[in-house]
Amino acid sequence: MNIQMQVCGLIILVLILYFYKRQDTVGLYTETLFRRALYTCIICLVLDILSVVMIMSQAFFPGWLVRAECKLYLLSLGATGYVALVYACADAYGLTRVNQFVKRMGIVAAAVGVLIFLLPIHIYCEGRDVYTYGPSCIATYISAVLLILVTLFYTAKRGNGMNPRRRRAIRIWMTIWLISAGIQLLNSQVLLVGFAGALGIVVLFFELENPEANIDRNTGFFNARTFTDYIKYKYDSGEEISCILLSLDNAHANDIRVEHIVDIMEEVTELVRRVPEARRFKTDDREFTLVFESNEQMERAYNMINNRFQREWLEDMESVTPVSLQPYYLLVPSGKVAESADEMMGFLRYFKSHCVDNPEKYVIMIDEESVAKKRDRDVMLAAIMKAMEDDRVEVFFQPIYSTHTKRFVSAEALVRIRREDGSIIPPGLFIPIAEETGLIVKLGERVFEKVCHFITERCPEQYGVEYIEINLSVVQCEAKSLAKCYSDIMDKYQINPAFINLEITESASIVMKKTLLDNMRALINYGVSFSLDDFGNGQSNLNYIVDMPVHIVKFDRDMTQAYFESEKARYVLQAATDMIQGLGLKVVAEGVETAEQLRELERLGIDYIQGYYFSKPIEEERYLEFLKVKNASERQNE
Ligand code: C2E
Ligand code: MG
Ligand code: MG
Repeated sequence: MNIQMQVCGLIILVLILYFYKRQDTVGLYTETLFRRALYTCIICLVLDILSVVMIMSQAFFPGWLVRAECKLYLLSLGATGYVALVYACADAYGLTRVNQFVKRMGIVAAAVGVLIFLLPIHIYCEGRDVYTYGPSCIATYISAVLLILVTLFYTAKRGNGMNPRRRRAIRIWMTIWLISAGIQLLNSQVLLVGFAGALGIVVLFFELENPEANIDRNTGFFNARTFTDYIKYKYDSGEEISCILLSLDNAHANDIRVEHIVDIMEEVTELVRRVPEARRFKTDDREFTLVFESNEQMERAYNMINNRFQREWLEDMESVTPVSLQPYYLLVPSGKVAESADEMMGFLRYFKSHCVDNPEKYVIMIDEESVAKKRDRDVMLAAIMKAMEDDRVEVFFQPIYSTHTKRFVSAEALVRIRREDGSIIPPGLFIPIAEETGLIVKLGERVFEKVCHFITERCPEQYGVEYIEINLSVVQCEAKSLAKCYSDIMDKYQINPAFINLEITESASIVMKKTLLDNMRALINYGVSFSLDDFGNGQSNLNYIVDMPVHIVKFDRDMTQAYFESEKARYVLQAATDMIQGLGLKVVAEGVETAEQLRELERLGIDYIQGYYFSKPIEEERYLEFLKVKNASERQNE
């Protein structure tokens, strides 16, 4: 009897079923489909073996029963092909479309099944060679080959939308089947097709359906890959979920000594294990994601975890680690905040980086409000990139007045983005986003280059301008290449470096301060001078002025305004001015809006005045006009 192959296949499938059943599955649709394929294949092999046995023992069974059994086997063969097709499409087309497809194709499949069952079948039995042939078999082979080809077609057509491992596994399965069907067609005695189905299941199991591969070995929770699949499945099926992402991977946790991390992670794993009603995922080294069916469950779990961290934990841990242990949380309430699973994964990535960069933000609710903000940010980011591409980045100049020479000796260069409709986007809307994404480096270079171009082309020195101030972002100062890049640009435009004054703001980090200082020294050696911008905006530190090689200090608009509103502020500004000038530095007051303010600050001895009283930031042409008129008239007044 030629059933050894089928028996082997059956044993393998039963073993796979055994291992499969031993593990927890997360409940994905593909898991259901895989189980369906596995059962169908087992039934197919059992019927295959049974048909050979019945044919060999025809004497004991009525002929119609043997033929009916053989046809049942053929039907199960077709069913296996059909299940494989549905399994392949579930990934490529999503659940909803596959359900529609199953409904539509189900009728066709049933019709083909009835046809196979009604068509005649012939049985060949000669010694140990046994096989069936005739119209019913031909119909089965044709439909099976068609199913295989359609499956291959879909995996080719929609292959990019599929999990690449699934695509590969399905292709291998289908190819094995086609080859075995071809061999069986040429040599009817070799009954390969049922066994080939079993081989396909083996490939699927080891490539992607082994539940063991979905489990994180250390914790026994589902792993990150399974989380991605799970979210995709939930979005496809339209089911709402709530989740908590809990991470220790932030600035606080970085202070924890490495040898304590293992202990802490063990404790946190136990804590997560105790959270009721949750599907647990270990989504990164120090990160867990818990999925719930309702917001109430999520809130209960959040309170439970947070309480543990807030109180008992810190007391317990005091002996182990001296730092406070503050994880960060992303809470995703149910509801359609994201359009797709990919978008949701993008939100998680984005808000995670937000928490890592801002340690004080340790709970972020990913709800409609925060998502709307993120979307606005994305729109702005795209607008910045497009503006850079289309060269719609412009530089405006705000004149700066010298109280000593009574002339406009300088200007601050301020970036603007012009929208396609001609309107202007102010820097307050895009600079923070450009800084967050690092785009500020390119944007800053572009502004600097435009200013240099302006200086060489329009020679503002002929109208009395002595230097131009240009803002440097903290992010730019972090780049070691800054000094080289800026001096290269000055070389390119043959700029006298004394014409350039770069504005820096205070920066907190010591690591960064070193790079900033290196950059500053290199540029000062080249001939450039520096200003300290935004002095008095809350984070000012007098030591900073002493430490940093700046030539000018710029009083923030708030500080200037406060001078006219409170006596205390008046003393502070006065004392600061004395100290700064005592150090041999110059002072600029920003945000001067009235003649009285100008007079008072002049009386105080402030060196330079910048503000709307003289002019708002204006385009280069208007700035030159301004200089021609104002500096000429000031000269006449002298
Ligand atoms: P900043 O460097 O402190 O620039 C001064 C800001 O105060 C400018 O706003 C200016 O228009 C505004 N201002 C000046 N005088 C007055 C006044 O009398 N009244 C009022 N209400 N405002 C006044 P702007 O142009 O919107 O720039 C805002 C900030 O954006 C700048 O503050 C600077 O931090 C940043 N920025 C602008 N251009 C650049 C750039 O090219 N690179 C970088 N990194 N940052 C820039
Ligand atoms: Mg500035
Ligand atoms: Mg300023």
